[in-house]
Amino acid sequence: MKRILVTGGAGFVGSHLCQRLLQMGNEVLCVDNYFTGSKANIAHMLSNPYFELMRHDVTFPLYVEVDEIYNLACPASPVHYQYDPVQTTKTSVHGAINMLGLAKRTNAKIFQASTSEVYGDPEVHPQPESYWGRVNPIGIRSCYDEGKRCAETLFFDYNRQHKIKIKVARIFNTYGPNMHPDDGRVVSNFIVQALKGEDITIYGEGEQTRSFCYVDDLIEGFVRLMATQDDVTGPVNLGNPHEFTIRQLAERTVQLTGSSSQLIFKPLPEDDPRQRQPDISLARELLQWEPDIQLDEGLEKTIKYFEGLLAV
Ligand code: NAD
Ligand code: UDP
Repeated sequence: MKRILVTGGAGFVGSHLCQRLLQMGNEVLCVDNYFTGSKANIAHMLSNPYFELMRHDVTFPLYVEVDEIYNLACPASPVHYQYDPVQTTKTSVHGAINMLGLAKRTNAKIFQASTSEVYGDPEVHPQPESYWGRVNPIGIRSCYDEGKRCAETLFFDYNRQHKIKIKVARIFNTYGPNMHPDDGRVVSNFIVQALKGEDITIYGEGEQTRSFCYVDDLIEGFVRLMATQDDVTGPVNLGNPHEFTIRQLAERTVQLTGSSSQLIFKPLPEDDPRQRQPDISLARELLQWEPDIQLDEGLEKTIKYFEGLLAV
């Protein structure tokens, strides 16, 4: 039985990961400061004797004994990471230093939840791992983008300097149950708006694109990457390569919910990437991984989750 630490374990992705790691027969320590996560996401695991919960902010050192670390702590929605941008950078950078220090002391393998945002507003399409990105260092998204880039730098320096076993995943837009209804990201916003019969808020003209991965597929990629040989460090893109415009997503959401909501157009936020699509050749080759669940099926599952949540 492995002792596995999941930082950000009460969040959307973290809660699914904790569940999966328990199902695989591990002991899980979930650490979270509940900035965007919630106890509701993990309440069903609390009765499991192999699940332990700790309120802790990763910008402070943590002394525990573990075999593996998944470092997910960080707000991921633009609305939330821009709310306290200094704390966002601290979470990525100080959080990475603290968790890498913990990995060094315990000789644990450590996984970093990096992001497609390291590519910024990309000029290369789709984005392979070899692309260095086009990121504004001083804009409103920079606290997240540059924080995550610096975290990657720290992971690779700890690997070169201290021989820490690292696994860096660059995650592309992921959605599914356990997203917060006020999360602010596009899939949850559109579904909640459609279910409430409110206007669907498209930013800009909705011609910008994203590629949406269902959370179960992502988690499968995480555990496969963690299980690779020590010489596999990443970065590895994890995401669904099917690309949609935001307007197409809005139309699908309205259709699948049977909603009478109208599409309305709001100003496009600063530095909003115009296109995003992962090149997942490396994940296919290294992990024999690719997403199984396509947009309609994933949206239906997520709609069902939000229907249940809004009915309470
Ligand atoms: P989320 O906001 O639901 O989860 C983040 C979790 O981290 C929350 O539970 C939050 O309370 C916790 N947290 C934040 N700051 C913390 C701190 N200082 N100390 C301890 N806990 C802290 O977001 P998510 O979508 O589940 O994202 C999880 C990770 O995956 C993040 O690192 C994010 O950057 C990365 N990621 C997610 C996506 C996606 O589409 N979901 C895409 C790219 C990268
Ligand atoms: N978006 C939108 N309406 C919303 C929320 C988001 O049109 O209510 C757009 C946003 O401008 C971006 C895309 O949807 O172009 C994805 O936004 P999200 O915040 O989910 O993620 P990110 O921009 O980080 O990929």
